[in-house]
Amino acid sequence: MISVEEALEKILSYIDVLGDEEKPILDSIGQVLAEDIYSDINVPPLDNSAMDGYAVRSEDTRNASPQSPHLLRVIDTVMPGSISRHEVEPGTAIRIMTGAPIPKGADSVVRFEDTDEAQREGDSGETGILCKVEAGLNIRRAGEDITQGSTVFSQGVVIRPAEVGVLASLGHRLVKVIRRPIVAVLATGDELVEIGKSLPPGKIYNSNTYSVAALILRYGGIPKILGIALDNEGALVARLRQGLDADMLITTGGVSMGDYDIVKDVLAKEGKIAFWTVRMKPGKPLAFGTIKGTSEAGTARNIPHLGLPGNPVSAMVTFELFARPAILKMLGKKHLVKPTVAAVIENQVINTDGRRIFTRAIVEKRGGQYFARLTGPQGSGILTSMTLANGLVIIPEDTTRVVAGDAVQVMMLNWNEEA
Ligand code: AMP
Ligand code: MG
Repeated sequence: MISVEEALEKILSYIDVLGDEEKPILDSIGQVLAEDIYSDINVPPLDNSAMDGYAVRSEDTRNASPQSPHLLRVIDTVMPGSISRHEVEPGTAIRIMTGAPIPKGADSVVRFEDTDEAQREGDSGETGILCKVEAGLNIRRAGEDITQGSTVFSQGVVIRPAEVGVLASLGHRLVKVIRRPIVAVLATGDELVEIGKSLPPGKIYNSNTYSVAALILRYGGIPKILGIALDNEGALVARLRQGLDADMLITTGGVSMGDYDIVKDVLAKEGKIAFWTVRMKPGKPLAFGTIKGTSEAGTARNIPHLGLPGNPVSAMVTFELFARPAILKMLGKKHLVKPTVAAVIENQVINTDGRRIFTRAIVEKRGGQYFARLTGPQGSGILTSMTLANGLVIIPEDTTRVVAGDAVQVMMLNWNEEA
């Protein structure tokens, strides 16, 4: 049995970063930039006003004070989006709104609050300046956000809302990013019934397909649902073949001791087995290998195949540990590790057989310290434990027991890898 680290290293050695695609900026959120972005404009394009007020020559305000306002003749008004045709000459001012380009001749803006604006009714044709301003005051300089000709983003950057906004401020409609992996999902089991159908005696609904597909979406992949395969080789191969255009295949079930041979035999016949079973709990019966497929160009291609255990909790936990980093790697992401925190555990956990245990826990911060308490029964069929949990407490292989008050590491399920 190999360790969690060995299993992950092996899986990632079969995973490559995917090619790129060009798409509308809003659709690129969460993806990795596949080009360097240069700016061919200044942002903002022109010097403009940071305030509503009057564009003036600062030397005209030298002797201004509330006691002796300095009167200037108002010769124009300039709004954002237009340019004044007038020039501010000595003794004159131009009324200006936030974002409007600074008129010729002016070197500063006096905000309304520093004029006698409030005392004036209607358009008096002049304004009284109440204080001295320095050249440059209340002016946002052309290019102060982005300078023309500069590199704004280098490839490898993860697109977040701020990057989308900056791309828009440069006028980009499309952006080149690493494409999202298509991950085929196949559930196995004679006992499974598709959701929406009635439940005959002895059967259960197929939940794994949906928890796994939801995880694929959460981490940036595109799920391709292949449905349910009955527990025989023919059925499994027939369904798997429908997923051979995917970037990765995930099956659930058919890997525990009883029906071990189905997925193993199919992997062996249709591809190659890399490993079986990992020293962890839940999730020991994990299979990984490659299935022979064909690429778009018609050449032979090996598709990574992750055979997750059928138990609903095991399927989700092994997904977090192995499928999630694989998807992130295909997406071109650099940070593949879920953040962990040190916490005080509030329950006892016994480790009987030297595996690494991942228990579902509710993590809370109290008085600057994280505490982790178990969600309740930890059976690998108790999927509601995953809905309660925000963390997985990690009990190392060589720890036979932790008791309430012990320090543990907890993998934070809702924290972002970039955090
Ligand atoms: P297996 O790994 O196929 O032996 O399955 C282990 C346990 O998980 C069994 O109790 C199965 O009924 C259950 N199981 C397997 N696949 C699914 C699924 N897609 N949805 C819900 N439960 C499943
Ligand atoms: Mg089964």
